[in-house]
Amino acid sequence: VADRPDVRTGSTRAGGFDPELARRDVPILHRTVNGRPLVWLDNGATTQKPRQVIEALAGYYSTTNSNIHRGAHTLAREATEAYEGGRAAVAGFLGAASPDSIVFTRGTTEAVNLVAQSWGRDNLGPGDEILVSTLEHHSDIVPWQLIAKERKARVVPIPLLPDGQIDQTAFADLLSFRTQLVAVSHASNVLGTVPPVKEMTALAHRYGARVLVDGAQAVAHFPVDVQDLDADFYVFSGHKLYGPTGIGALYAKPDVLEGMRPWQGGGNMIDHVDFSGSTFAPVPHRLEAGTGDLSGPVGLRAAMEWLTSFDHRAVAAYETALTQYAQQALASVPGLEVLGSAPERVAVLTFTMAGQDPSAIASWLDQDGIAVRAGHHCAQPALRFFGLESAARASLALYNTAEEVDQLVDSLMRLQEQG
Ligand code: PLP
Repeated sequence: VADRPDVRTGSTRAGGFDPELARRDVPILHRTVNGRPLVWLDNGATTQKPRQVIEALAGYYSTTNSNIHRGAHTLAREATEAYEGGRAAVAGFLGAASPDSIVFTRGTTEAVNLVAQSWGRDNLGPGDEILVSTLEHHSDIVPWQLIAKERKARVVPIPLLPDGQIDQTAFADLLSFRTQLVAVSHASNVLGTVPPVKEMTALAHRYGARVLVDGAQAVAHFPVDVQDLDADFYVFSGHKLYGPTGIGALYAKPDVLEGMRPWQGGGNMIDHVDFSGSTFAPVPHRLEAGTGDLSGPVGLRAAMEWLTSFDHRAVAAYETALTQYAQQALASVPGLEVLGSAPERVAVLTFTMAGQDPSAIASWLDQDGIAVRAGHHCAQPALRFFGLESAARASLALYNTAEEVDQLVDSLMRLQEQG
C-alpha cells in the first residue's frame, strides 16, 4: 500500500515536503465552491497562482508599466529590464546557456506554431517526415499537419504500447533520413506518461532530425535541463507553471534559432524598414513581433522563483507519493479504471467509471467543490488508442493533499452507490 502523504508534517517515506507551505500562498485555494472548500484537481488545464505572482503583476502595473525597447525614459528602461530579467529567469529555469535562446510566446501552442511556421517552412520539403508521438496534445499535432500540407511533407504517428508508453521499437523503425523532426511530450496531459525523451533525442539526432519537446505538463513537476536533454526545441506555458496566462516560451538551440526567419512582421522585430525591403533584429527579438504580454515575464519569473524556493527533489517525491496514493485510492472505487500504467509518470490521472458519463462525473464532483476536467483533453488520438472519445481527469499539483484525494474518492464512491 502506498504511503498516505501526511499533510500536517509533510512526512512521507519518499520525502519531506509540506504542501501546506504552498497552500498558504495560493489565495484561491481558500475559497468555497457550492458551499464546500475548493478542491482544485484541474492543474493539467491550468494551475492556481500564488500571491507572489499576483503581487508581482500588481506591482509591475503599479510601478513600472511602459512599452519596452522603445522610448528613452525611466519607465521604458525599467520595463525592459523587467522583461529581459524574465527571459534570463526562463533560461536559468530550463538550464539554457543564454537568455538569447529564449523566445517569449503566448504559450505552448504559439511556440509550436512558431517553430512550424518559421523553422518548418525552411526545413521541410516534399517527402520529408515529421514523427509525432500518439501521446501528443492537439497543439503538437495540428501545427505539423498544417505545415506538412503546405510543404508536401508527411506527419507520421509514433504508436503507443498498451500501458501508455511510446513504442520505442516502432520509433526506432520509423526513424530514417527522411525524418526532419520528432515531436514528443516531456509528460502526457492524458496519461501522465514521461517518455525517455533524452534517449529518443539522441536516437533522432543520429538521423540528423531535430527534436521538439513539449514541456507543458513537465515543467511544474520536475526540473528540466534542455542542454542535458540535448533538445533542439523546448516549449511550455507559464499558466501551467503557477504563472499567468498569455505567456510561455520557446527554447531553441542557438545555431537553430539563429537560422530562423521571422514568422510574424511588425514592430520590435526589425532592424531597418524601407519600402525597398526591410532587415530584421537579431534573435530572439526577430521572433517577437509587436507588443507582447509585457507583464507576463514578470509574473512568470515570480512563479518560477516561487516553485524553486521549495526543495525540488522533496516536491517531486511528494507528488510521486501523492500520485501513487491517488492511484490506489481510485482503484478502490467500483468500476473505475485509470488509463495507462507507465512506470514513469506525472500526477495526471485520467479515468473512466462503468455506467457514468465523464461530464456527469465532473458535474457531480463540482457539487462537492471538486474541480476535474472531462472531455477529450485535446488529445483525441491518445484517448482513441484506449477506445474512448471522452474521460474524466484529475491532475494534481504540489499544493494538493491526501485529504483532497480522499474527498475525491469519497465523492466518486457516493456517485457509484447512487447508481
Ligand atoms: N501540450 C500539452 C501537453 C498540454 O497539456 C497543453 C495544454 O493543455 C498544451 C500543449 C497547450 O498549452 P496552451 O493551451 O497553454 O498553449
